[in-house]
Amino acid sequence: MRCPFCQNDDTRVVDSRLAEDRDAVRRRRACEACGERFSTLEEANLKLPYIVKTNGDREHYDESKLARGLERALEKRPVDSEEIEHILHRIKHKLLTCGEREINARDIGELVMNELREVDQVAYVRFASVYRSFQDVDAFSNEIKRLQAETVRGRKASRTKAQASINANNTPPKR
Ligand SMILES: [Zn+2]
Repeated sequence: MRCPFCQNDDTRVVDSRLAEDRDAVRRRRACEACGERFSTLEEANLKLPYIVKTNGDREHYDESKLARGLERALEKRPVDSEEIEHILHRIKHKLLTCGEREINARDIGELVMNELREVDQVAYVRFASVYRSFQDVDAFSNEIKRLQAETVRGRKASRTKAQASINANNTPPKR
């Protein structure tokens, strides 16, 4: 690492230890040329990206806002609050690890829809009809048809899965 005082390329680590919060490493360095000492802090770059709304405004990721949207979509649906927590957790994890500094609100909507499609089709359609502005009635009814086709396939699959888990001798299905 370059010396910030004389720009010499050669600096040497004289001490290295975990920072107080232990998520970072603090290093003490000494410049071989001018002898100045300085500290560096190395930490994982895990920051939530800014959300860019369709009107171009940037805002911080608001998990409680997303939670409210999910709860609205899942109202009176057989999905418990623990599952909502899991969805929120998975979305946050994706945002933390995506490596982007900003992300479009639309893309978050897509993440939510992908999650809901797996969990509850009715909630998915509710959310999608609000979030993804379907171009026209045809686009909306095409989506419904596609879902119905998927549900039929899904039922067959889950029947097979249920049978498999019975066969697996009471092993609870893993999440
Ligand atoms: Zn120096």
